[in-house]
Amino acid sequence: MSELKLCQGTKCHTYYTKDRLKGMKGNKTYQTRRRSSMYYGNGNFCSTQCQWDWFNDFGDQAINHFGRLKEAKHLTEENAWFKNYRWGYERGNGEAEHYYLNKITKEERPLTKQQYDDDNYTLNTI
Ligand SMILES: [Zn+2]
Repeated sequence: MSELKLCQGTKCHTYYTKDRLKGMKGNKTYQTRRRSSMYYGNGNFCSTQCQWDWFNDFGDQAINHFGRLKEAKHLTEENAWFKNYRWGYERGNGEAEHYYLNKITKEERPLTKQQYDDDNYTLNTI
C-alpha cells in the first residue's frame, strides 16, 4: 500500500468539501487532503487552488531563496536545440521519428530513440 501524502496547500483545510470533513460524529473537522498521489505542482497539491495559495504565501520567498532572475535569458543558436518527435502518420510511412530542432536556425538533426530518452544528451553548448 502506498503512503498517503498531505496536500501542501496552506488553506486546503479551509475549503468546505465533504471529503475534507473527517473525524468521529460530533467531533468532525475539515482537514488537509491526504492522497496517494496528487496531480498539481509536482505532486504536492490536490488542486490548482491549493497550488496558488501556497505560491501566494511563499512564492516570493522561494524565488529569493533559489535566485531571482536579474537579467533576461537569451535563446541563441548555441542553446536553441529542442528534442522533437514526429508520429508515423505525420510522415505517412508509419514510422515515428525523433529529431533535434534548432529553434533559431530551424536546422533539424536526426536523433536515436535512446538519445531522445537520455535527459543528459544535448547538442546545446551553453
Ligand atoms: Zn489541497
